[in-house]
Amino acid sequence: STVLVTGATGFIAQHVVDKLLKRKYRVIGTARSEARYSPILKEFKKKYPKGEITYEVVADMAADDAFDEVLKNHPEIKYVLHTASPFSYGLDKPFDEAYLKPALHGTLNILNAIKKYAPQVTNVVITSSFAAVKQSGDAFRTTVHTKESWNPIKWEEVKNENEAYCASKTYAERAARKFYEEEKPAYKLATVNPPMVLGPQLFDSSVEKVLNTSNELLNKITHLDPTATTPQDKFALLAVDVRDVAEFHVLPLENKELESEREFIASSPLIAQTILNILNDNFPELHGKIAKGDYSSAGEIIAKFCPKYDVSSSLSKASDYKLISLEKSVVDVYKQYFSKYS
Ligand code: NDP
Repeated sequence: STVLVTGATGFIAQHVVDKLLKRKYRVIGTARSEARYSPILKEFKKKYPKGEITYEVVADMAADDAFDEVLKNHPEIKYVLHTASPFSYGLDKPFDEAYLKPALHGTLNILNAIKKYAPQVTNVVITSSFAAVKQSGDAFRTTVHTKESWNPIKWEEVKNENEAYCASKTYAERAARKFYEEEKPAYKLATVNPPMVLGPQLFDSSVEKVLNTSNELLNKITHLDPTATTPQDKFALLAVDVRDVAEFHVLPLENKELESEREFIASSPLIAQTILNILNDNFPELHGKIAKGDYSSAGEIIAKFCPKYDVSSSLSKASDYKLISLEKSVVDVYKQYFSKYS
């Protein structure tokens, strides 16, 4: 069967497409330009010579009816995975142009295109985020976040780019769910709500000095003061591996228990000290070049600063799925990165 993957040039989406081709789905990806998709398409063709993959250009997904042509021209599309959304900081535009409009209109445009032209679609999976789940203020640390949790953020209160991103994801997911409740379409709707997504690029050729937004956080950690011997409590977040996130995009197409799930998945708390410990344990060549911090403080600072969470719902519905460990995610990112930039 044929799967439409929007934003099929992204870090996560490339892993999603990889899983789909491996499982013999036919894939139609969307990209903002041919220049953007052609090197990636070449890699996919090399890896899957018999794989069926094509791309369509959707230059501006926030424009009215942006996805209509794609759905109109491809009546064979059975599944839609909507992953495209702005996630790179330093965008040179007002926050609403940079984040809210593409996230929100992109989501509503794909749902409307399905409504108008693709009654045959049976499943839609939207890439939302932990950004749409997380609580703010003290509740960020004290609440146990679950798939029922919603970020209370209001667009009017957004003060910085990170908040703009988080609000864009929250508004987009809310809008999708409202659309679904009101329109009552025949397809099933699932969302994937991952926190910081770490892990290797699907293709070594995508590794650049500055990595994609979420993996670049790891680079920031290696640039902390190398003489620091105090507990390193920066970046109190949660993490999950990109290969698991990709799997949870495909599972709702294959597992009825997940077809309507809000898939909140996280493998581990994430704090600078843990990353430093993993790097110092696994890469002796980094000793002295990166901070040691205070090795034994990790547990304590995680308990103090990181969000608490319960992801048992999605994991149990996926036959007690075992998530990749943070250590493996981090080691795999660095192995790939150091083979290019040592
Ligand atoms: P990437 O930046 O690698 O991928 C984002 C994708 O969205 C790219 O295909 C990009 O196209 C496309 N895109 C971005 N802005 C626009 C726009 N204005 N119009 C059309 N397409 C656009 O990031 P990720 O792979 O990490 O993110 C994929 C999805 O996962 C996003 O929805 C993101 O919010 C979500 N997510 C990511 C997390 C993470 O830690 N990485 C955590 C939680 C959720 P192009 O290649 O042309 O830039």
